[in-house]
Amino acid sequence: MPTAPNHNTDYRSRLNLRPVINVSGTMTSLGASIMHADAIAAMAEIAPQWIEMDDLQRRASAVIARLTGGEAGFVTACCAAGISMTIAGTMTGTDMLAIEQLPDRTERLKDEVILQLGHAVNYGAPVEQSIRLAGGKPVYAGTATQVMPYHIENSITDRTAALLFVVSHHTVQIGQVSLEEVVEICRPRGIPVIVDAASEYDLRSFLERGADIAIYSGHKFLSGPTSGIVAGRKDLVRAAYLQNKGIGRAMKVGKESIAGVMAALQAWEKRDHVGIRARETAALHLWQTTVNALPGLHAKIMPDPTNNPLDRLEITVAPESGFTANGLAKALAAGDPPIIVRDHESELGFFYLDPCNLHPGEAEVVADAFEKVFAAERPANAMALPRHSLASALRWPD
Ligand SMILES: *Cc1c(COP(=O)(O)O)cnc(C)c1O
Repeated sequence: MPTAPNHNTDYRSRLNLRPVINVSGTMTSLGASIMHADAIAAMAEIAPQWIEMDDLQRRASAVIARLTGGEAGFVTACCAAGISMTIAGTMTGTDMLAIEQLPDRTERLKDEVILQLGHAVNYGAPVEQSIRLAGGKPVYAGTATQVMPYHIENSITDRTAALLFVVSHHTVQIGQVSLEEVVEICRPRGIPVIVDAASEYDLRSFLERGADIAIYSGHKFLSGPTSGIVAGRKDLVRAAYLQNKGIGRAMKVGKESIAGVMAALQAWEKRDHVGIRARETAALHLWQTTVNALPGLHAKIMPDPTNNPLDRLEITVAPESGFTANGLAKALAAGDPPIIVRDHESELGFFYLDPCNLHPGEAEVVADAFEKVFAAERPANAMALPRHSLASALRWPD
């Protein structure tokens, strides 16, 4: 039986942490992604050095501008921080007193932020909270499954500061107004369109399609350290960056993360995207063959819902398997090593395997884990249905 190399086993076993294999995607709860070696090296290099932070961020701005096609950019703690700081910037501009008075003293500022109702998602925290953290007031347009241009037009008032557009598999995938139409409505009225593109590969298209600002996570597909990247119109980037003297202080990014994400961006330019895709495809085929040979499972390869160049294996779990989708996910997560699948839709009877964060040898370990689980007796919770439980969160740190 193949065994995966034990990356960081020393560290994890020293702290008694489980050596999980992540086939769920770039999940914050699992440490986001495997960091690129260049990012790790840059972080180690800058760690013992003094640096003038505004100058380091100027260098980051140039790299971000080159990769995104935006006029400027900066690095912050994470995408959620970038949303709060950008929204704050659309409210305050470069008014330093206003910056210091956020988030609550907004009487003299534009403070309404339009959000299509189908975009009001929770990616681990509610996206609208990033607006409220800045002192903005979310204004919802339309209904969850149908938003029309007139809903957006009629949400605009003389207090509208910005429109936030969310790109994510979490959003309602039907009935929303497209980015192009949103830009057509907002641009003539001088309303900035801010795109939450946290988990998107494409660093250029949202700005090309007319967004004023696009915000990315540095730690998802880019394989950088935990960080956020704000890119786009220079006046808005500057206003957002100035929030470091205000609400942004609670979202401070360190020199090491700025250096790390710059290195990750540079590595992204040279990355062998085709070779990586081929390795991911090989893993998907291995899993598909293994899974389709097991009773009650049916696996098919599915494209990413937001058109990232990434496929996943969708595994439908029928009762003949002796499992529910949720029960099978739990059995895999309880294994040795623990396999964490992408199960946020398991109430629909399926889950996914995401191949984008594997170390060499791990694809085979995942395939073997399915066979092991099926060869064993069904665990007590094999037929468990998904239910939301906060028990573990509410017990932390115990
Ligand atoms: C992950 C995610 C975020 C949060 O990004 P962080 O960098 O972890 O703060 C925001 N929006 C969407 C759509 C996401 O997927």
